Amino acid sequence: MSRISLPGPEIADRPTSVLSHRVGAAGLCSDSASDRWFPAEPGNSASDKARQDYELYARAACLGCTVLMECRELALRIEAHPRVRAHGVWGGLAPWERDALRRRREHARRGNEPAESPAVAS
Ligand code: SF4
Repeated sequence: MSRISLPGPEIADRPTSVLSHRVGAAGLCSDSASDRWFPAEPGNSASDKARQDYELYARAACLGCTVLMECRELALRIEAHPRVRAHGVWGGLAPWERDALRRRREHARRGNEPAESPAVAS
């Protein structure tokens, strides 16, 4: 089992516009067929296996992307809006993994636990 490192403060401090520009210009997926990065998400009633398969797919799709951390941070910011959902894989994470990371950050912000510890493992 390997861990994926999570965005550090240096990325979180960058303006959203800078992240957006960098991800859009340099992402591994920027000039490829989008279906590879945005496969149909398993629904809420999907099996654990289907969700795990999707998570593994997310890791593989983004492996080696030079803007993975920026992309992940950008998705987290986009999804911070209560009615906005960034569809599919962003920064090597499935949507529910980003939700979990966002909740961890919120807990950390409140002083309850380390922000970027554990968690996202493949
Ligand atoms: S991390 Fe993944 S989704 Fe984000 S720009 Fe890179 S390849 Fe695309």
